[in-house]
Amino acid sequence: MAHVKLHIPGPVEVNEKTFRAFCLPMIGHRGQGFKDLYAKIQPQLQQLLYTKQLVYISTSSAWGVMEGAIRNLVSRKVLNCMCGAFSDKWLDVSKRCGKDAEALQVPWGSPIRAEAIDRKLATGQFDTLTVIHNETSTGVMSPLAEIAALKRKYPDVMFVVDAVSSMTATKIEFDALGIDVLLAGTQKAFALPPGTSMFVCSPAALARAATIKDRGYYFDFVEFQKNAELSMTPSTPSIGHVHALASKLEDIFAEGLEARFARHRQTNQMTRDWAARQGFTLFPDPGFESVTLTCVNNGAKPGGRAVDVPKLQKLVKDRGFLIDGGYGKIKGTTFRISNMGDETPATMQQLYSALDEAMKQL
Ligand SMILES: *Cc1c(COP(=O)(O)O)cnc(C)c1O
Repeated sequence: MAHVKLHIPGPVEVNEKTFRAFCLPMIGHRGQGFKDLYAKIQPQLQQLLYTKQLVYISTSSAWGVMEGAIRNLVSRKVLNCMCGAFSDKWLDVSKRCGKDAEALQVPWGSPIRAEAIDRKLATGQFDTLTVIHNETSTGVMSPLAEIAALKRKYPDVMFVVDAVSSMTATKIEFDALGIDVLLAGTQKAFALPPGTSMFVCSPAALARAATIKDRGYYFDFVEFQKNAELSMTPSTPSIGHVHALASKLEDIFAEGLEARFARHRQTNQMTRDWAARQGFTLFPDPGFESVTLTCVNNGAKPGGRAVDVPKLQKLVKDRGFLIDGGYGKIKGTTFRISNMGDETPATMQQLYSALDEAMKQL
């Protein structure tokens, strides 16, 4: 069967070079070969995340580390900031971990703002905060610098940031922001196959974790740190992913970080322009649109055009591209187009041509 190219917001398209690296012969994860591989990519991962801390590799999808952050850090109460399907779910995960948890809910389409967090943290009840930088379900990017600035006022609150669909596509300076945990999975802007996550912890987060009794084993952050110091992972990692990550980091630094960020801004702007040309508006509040995907308003909010999304998806798929039909409660009243990973203006143009032809047939 012919491959349908992925323009959904994860997993995204994986290129041939990455796949070749993924399929390199197996090596032992306690041997020098693996240690050399991890030690080689460690400085690149640190440069990518603008950090001096060790970056960990977890063989799990992002949710593993997201749940791990709750188990490792929450002692008293966690504030889960919610603005879409993924961030809303994090409250549920906190509760399932048996933690005392509270929601800071904003309407879908709106960002999380520092002022609202400040009001909650001022109660003194919370020792942990979760925020999703780029809420993939709504296409909203919350202002991370503004939120992270609160850390100075609340140094004892652990700030956990999910950058699953923004890491590598936009600048996130972990050390300078002063946040405590930053995490992402491989299948979004990294453009690797799904199944592995990368994350980094502040010294304060590691110190907190060390005091928590029931943090479990598989996602024990203290174990990740101990092992990373030896260029290893706590348990057997997906070695194919580490090879693929090494290949991808080569590509990222060959392109240059600033160029990579600019490419994502450019291809994202092209998608917004396509939507406007077709008479659509966007779902996110103006000024808070993601740079890695576009969530097109299709009747969820007043204004703009609305089309039969399943029909549009089918017509586009017949032309070789998969777009997303909206997520959760805004399925069908929005649709989403990803420009994450390796996409260029030229490859995006092929998608817009297919979309334009499909729109004529609606
Ligand atoms: C995809 C996604 C997740 C969940 O990732 P999994 O790989 O399914 O665990 C979490 N947060 C955001 C923002 C996402 O886009």
